[in-house]
Amino acid sequence: MVKEDFEITDAPKIIVAIDGYSSSGKSTMARELAKRVGYIYIDSGAMYRAVTLFALRHSLFKADGKVDTDKLLPLLPNLNVSFQASASQDGVQHTLLNGEDVEKEIRTMEVSNHVSPIAEIPEVRHRMVELQQRFGQEKGVVMDGRDIGTTVFPHAELKIFVTAGLHERARRRWRELQHKGLDIRFEEVLENLGKRDRIDTTRKVSPLKKADDAITLANDAITHEEQMEWLIKLFQDTVEKIENGSRD
Ligand code: C5P
Repeated sequence: MVKEDFEITDAPKIIVAIDGYSSSGKSTMARELAKRVGYIYIDSGAMYRAVTLFALRHSLFKADGKVDTDKLLPLLPNLNVSFQASASQDGVQHTLLNGEDVEKEIRTMEVSNHVSPIAEIPEVRHRMVELQQRFGQEKGVVMDGRDIGTTVFPHAELKIFVTAGLHERARRRWRELQHKGLDIRFEEVLENLGKRDRIDTTRKVSPLKKADDAITLANDAITHEEQMEWLIKLFQDTVEKIENGSRD
């Protein structure tokens, strides 16, 4: 049972790493957990999407779909990705690329179709990991992605690995896009997710993989509420254990 009287203000701050496959629902979980416990939420996928948008805008993709790294790499040190609460007060955190709000643009299929080759580039990952580690310096952060528990925060106090079948994830993503008014075929979404799974799990640098000490959540057949109840209880137990340990 989730403890309603759980007092978070004086509790030790921890890092929560939530990794998993595309459209497994990890971002929603991470965002909601952060809100419930007053932590910062960082969507690391949005950061790779922002770099992808940058590359698209500067025509850095070659005809064969590969990235023109000769042009991209020198630009990386000056590329900054940050987050801010939405000015329209919709409660959604917006992604900023060098200060510009690109939240809407990074969610398009065009960006989804180009993001994996960008996320494969070691120098891009190095730059993003550096920024992500800075966000976690003070702890009190929930970050979701593919390599948070393995590479970004290998010492995170709580690590979750979220899985769900490819069709179920494609169905969720397709519904989400329909909801946003995007007219897109289910097969296209399915194909995109399958391709991203393949690239994300087989790339050389920081492939998507469960950290040895992560707890797996297979969420094909459980409700969002059940999932959140499970996660919040796990969070509370983890914090309490650390608190009790530090008093011994
Ligand atoms: O989470 P989301 O689907 O928005 O992430 C977009 C892409 O960014 C993923 O398909 C993956 O290629 C990449 N990514 C990554 N490492 C992370 C987060 C996302 O490689 N930590």
